[in-house]
Amino acid sequence: MEILQFDFMQRALLAALLIGLSAPAVGIYLVQRRLALIGDGMGHVALTGVGIGLLTRSGPVWTALVCTVVGAVLIEFMRAKGRTSSDVALAVMFYGGIAGGVVLLAKAPGSTPANLNAYLFGSITSTTPGDLVVFAVLAVVVLAVALGMSRVFFTVGADEEYATAAGLPVLALNIVLAVMVAVTVVVSMRVVGLLLVSALMIVPVAVAQRVGRSFAGTVATAMVVGVLVSVGGVFTSFYADTPSGATIVLAAIAVFVLTAAGTALRARMRGPHNEAEDHLHAHGPTCGHRAVPHEDHVDYLHDGHRHAPHGAHYDEHFAEDDEEHVAGGPGPGGPAAQGRRSS
Ligand SMILES: [Zn+2]
Ligand SMILES: [Zn+2]
Ligand SMILES: [Zn+2]
Ligand SMILES: [Zn+2]
Repeated sequence: MEILQFDFMQRALLAALLIGLSAPAVGIYLVQRRLALIGDGMGHVALTGVGIGLLTRSGPVWTALVCTVVGAVLIEFMRAKGRTSSDVALAVMFYGGIAGGVVLLAKAPGSTPANLNAYLFGSITSTTPGDLVVFAVLAVVVLAVALGMSRVFFTVGADEEYATAAGLPVLALNIVLAVMVAVTVVVSMRVVGLLLVSALMIVPVAVAQRVGRSFAGTVATAMVVGVLVSVGGVFTSFYADTPSGATIVLAAIAVFVLTAAGTALRARMRGPHNEAEDHLHAHGPTCGHRAVPHEDHVDYLHDGHRHAPHGAHYDEHFAEDDEEHVAGGPGPGGPAAQGRRSS
């Protein structure tokens, strides 16, 4: 293809591939924890790192990485404290991040408004060969951790109290997740831009949740959607001469709207969808609950209910011969009932 003759396009497409795979793989845990906006805040913090890098003429990728990782760890400690004041502290940190970045960039030698625009909204010409090597290493590490430890991250996201009682290092795991978000923000900043980074972590996951039948299926679908919209967005950006990040995000939103319309239509034809309320336990082949085949998937018998994994939550399923289970209500309780959260 003609456009592949351009070195910058080859780099932009490779970067898009890396982002498309890693951003949703991390984003699914943010969606599960209802922290969809944290990535957005980290993008703001990263801008100060970029400003420091340009001002001191060190690589902006490295300074952005240091700033964002430090920010991520601070955010996680504040969240762990769980006070209302931490909400305001986060907001102050995010505003400070973007304001500091804008001021530092304005003072950096040779910096122009176009330069700031490229950092905020992405540009296909901005990925250097050096960046690409760093991005590839970081993305592979993030993917390996996010996919390799998915069961643990899922359990912590489902219920922190239960995870703590089960002996999982919840704070450490949350910090690892926050650092992965920070790294993803930096890997995505060239092509997607810091103001839009978060969308690529969240929107493909939102699409996948509507069609995924299991957690693993949802992750895989989100990654496919992520790659399609990021690579497709870079192509479109080249031909339409538009900022790449905004193009990618619009493509993702278009896919989301179409999927939402399609699944809403299908749900109307199929009847209601019952999400298990406040489900605090991750079912699996070794969890001890009996697995029962049901149509094209398995249900787990859990406190008198049938639970089927659906995206990042569980659905209540019913079978014709199952009336007595459903009528029986919750039993004395497995691990989930004991860890029930009051929220
Ligand atoms: Zn179970
Ligand atoms: Zn079922
Ligand atoms: Zn269950
Ligand atoms: Zn569901």
